Amino acid sequence: MINNKSINMNKKPIDISIELKEVSPHAIIANYKDYFDLNAGVVILDNFIIVIDPLLLPRQAKEFRDKLEKKYGLPVKYLFITHYHSDHVFGVAPFKDVEIFGCYDLIENLKEKKEKAWTEEAFNEWKKSEPEYAQFIDEIEIIIPEKGFDKKRVITDNALQVEFYYSGGHTGCSSYAYFPNEKILFAGDEIAAGFWPFISDPTGDPEKWIKSFEFMLTLNIEAVVPGHGPIVKKNYIKEELTFLNDLKNAVLKAISENKEPKEINVPKSAYKPAEDWQIPRALDFLHNYYSNYRK
Ligand SMILES: [Zn+2]
Repeated sequence: MINNKSINMNKKPIDISIELKEVSPHAIIANYKDYFDLNAGVVILDNFIIVIDPLLLPRQAKEFRDKLEKKYGLPVKYLFITHYHSDHVFGVAPFKDVEIFGCYDLIENLKEKKEKAWTEEAFNEWKKSEPEYAQFIDEIEIIIPEKGFDKKRVITDNALQVEFYYSGGHTGCSSYAYFPNEKILFAGDEIAAGFWPFISDPTGDPEKWIKSFEFMLTLNIEAVVPGHGPIVKKNYIKEELTFLNDLKNAVLKAISENKEPKEINVPKSAYKPAEDWQIPRALDFLHNYYSNYRK
């Protein structure tokens, strides 16, 4: 979701347990409740398994992978990463022997993060600030995927196939997966169900986000697996699209009236942000974005 390094927001006793749930005959998710209801997705094909995001911590990812391979008697062959946020990449280590991939922009963003933000010193600082997590933090490895794609990639196994689309939106490298055989969309953080949308990443692009939602609505979808939150129906995408458009119009109106970000008349949402700072930061970001925006 975010690039905040604190993983123990609630300061509760640490609980890293995960839960596996079936979505459809060949699709399942792993959920980590204690980190903003974080989801990883899975498609079980005839001869191998594709995993979509690894969960937050390597220890969780290992348990997740072991359970999958044991239950289905198949190897994980691919790990698709939906975007560069820490809660979607820090768990990657137990998958380093499989093909890890994402869009080209993901590779660029991860290289930059590894060089500038996720340094050894930064991880040491993190351990100092959350010593109860030190044992988990030590297991984190930043692995740059070797394989990228531009707009779309398709992986086929007999009659089953999974499609991967570059999107942009929540982040500049946001991508999602679609499993047409069972009409399942794995949306990454383009959808955070039950939360005010995760807008404000400096690489994000609301116009690409809107276009992606419009495209998703052309797909035949039975269930949407969000990056965070419960599984929802296609209608949720429509609601989010309406909200993004309403918010865009409110921002454009404020700009045309020379108003500040904090004066934007934010449309009502049924959902609260995961953290209080998100809405003011989103308004600053959108105000700046649409101030420079030419249709
Ligand atoms: Zn995210």
